Amino acid sequence: MQQLTLNNGVTMPALGFGVFQTPPDVTTDAVATALETGYRHIDTAAAYGNEREVGEAVRRSGLPREEVFIETKVWISDYGYDQTLHAFDKSAGKLGVETIDLFILHQALPSRFDLTLEAYRALETLLGDGRVRAIGVSNFMPEHLAALMKQATVLPTLNQVEIHPYFTQPAVQSADTERGILTQAWSPIGGITSYRGTGTSTFEDPAITAIAAAHGKTPAQVMLRWHLQQGRSAIPKSVRPERIAENFDVFDFTLTPGELETLDGLDTGTRGGPEPAAITLESFGRDIPEA
Ligand code: NDP
Repeated sequence: MQQLTLNNGVTMPALGFGVFQTPPDVTTDAVATALETGYRHIDTAAAYGNEREVGEAVRRSGLPREEVFIETKVWISDYGYDQTLHAFDKSAGKLGVETIDLFILHQALPSRFDLTLEAYRALETLLGDGRVRAIGVSNFMPEHLAALMKQATVLPTLNQVEIHPYFTQPAVQSADTERGILTQAWSPIGGITSYRGTGTSTFEDPAITAIAAAHGKTPAQVMLRWHLQQGRSAIPKSVRPERIAENFDVFDFTLTPGELETLDGLDTGTRGGPEPAAITLESFGRDIPEA
């Protein structure tokens, strides 16, 4: 299993397992299947409402806690120094863990960047106290990273952003790389082009299906290989055992430089997720329950 070393020396499996939109009542089974398949990195979030079930699956797997890398996110409604320290207690309590491997801010809050900075300061405290092993951000544009680093003392280890062949965010990837921040792809196989899209989904793209056919692999496997070969972390989601296995079976083939270039060339510049600049407490805020 390919590992990535974060800028603070902590290692993490490059390929993780996502649980956005996985209902709580199927999350334990989905994560249990992923762990049986070999995944050792799970990505959840306070806002997904399924941290408790992720923790349950990790415990039920019987794997030593240190063998599973758990990543979760603080929701914007819990930003602020004290609020974010408490958000850690809520997430750790639901997960049933003492330590969270990677704790990240889910979004920048451009209209209340003061709260974003205070939330990040809380992450720095949690890191200093050994409650989390690494800290990071998600959906941060280069200007958000620049504003954060004017005040922060610890560089985020990672920036989790929307990246799939139809939306590759080269400026964000460059800004991350220049600072030594790992880019992690959400919707890595372009799920959002299928469950939210109106046009062709990445799964049906003729260029991607042609590369898949050439390798005897599937479009999802080709997209995951593209991330891994370009040094990104990827966290595909599925609730179906056959796809959970398919998305993990990506370590036995290599895309050519030309194929990587073809995939890069599919970028449309159109994001599927919300515009990061438009995230406000008024439109996206919601209460995160206590543990
Ligand atoms: P993905 O790119 O992982 O695609 C998931 C979708 O594709 C689901 O609808 C799934 O359906 C389907 N699917 C999964 N595997 C296959 C396959 N092999 N062939 C065809 N279809 C497949 O998208 P997500 O948006 O879920 O992103 C992955 C993870 O990233 C999330 O679960 C979450 O952890 C994180 N994320 C973070 C965000 C952020 O703001 N930080 C935003 C969005 C996601 P089914 O389950 O039925 O198989």
